[in-house]
Amino acid sequence: MAVDATQAYDDQNIFARILRGEIPARKVYEDDWALAFHDINPQAPTHVLVIPKGAYVSWDDFSEHASEAEIAGFVRAVGHVARDAGLVAPGYRLLANTGTDSHQEVPHLHVHVFAGRPLGPMLVR
Ligand code: AMP
Repeated sequence: MAVDATQAYDDQNIFARILRGEIPARKVYEDDWALAFHDINPQAPTHVLVIPKGAYVSWDDFSEHASEAEIAGFVRAVGHVARDAGLVAPGYRLLANTGTDSHQEVPHLHVHVFAGRPLGPMLVR
């Protein structure tokens, strides 16, 4: 079911549980601000999710309420994950679904990193 981006943070969401170590994830990177792990249902040869450690429902919530340090740390972590995986030269795509029309499914901000093949047009036409 798609997430309403204006809803309150639900600390039982699946990514909150991954952050608390309650369920496993195939981690690729972690620092003070972010955790990155492989998507369980990859849509490209490389499909990694990067999430902030703070409790933010969506890009909207994060961009409005996170501190400067959290925002800087998270944005740098996304860049680091892609760089470290060697994705800069071939190229990669970032996606942050936000709310109902985007079909956001998990109510904790996550940036998808897609790569590993030519990804085609941005949206299905
Ligand atoms: P979105 O539609 O943008 O909310 O994307 C949610 C993503 O989370 C989907 O690509 C799912 O495959 C992925 N996902 C859901 N549960 C897990 C999990 N336990 N571990 C890794 N990825 C997950």
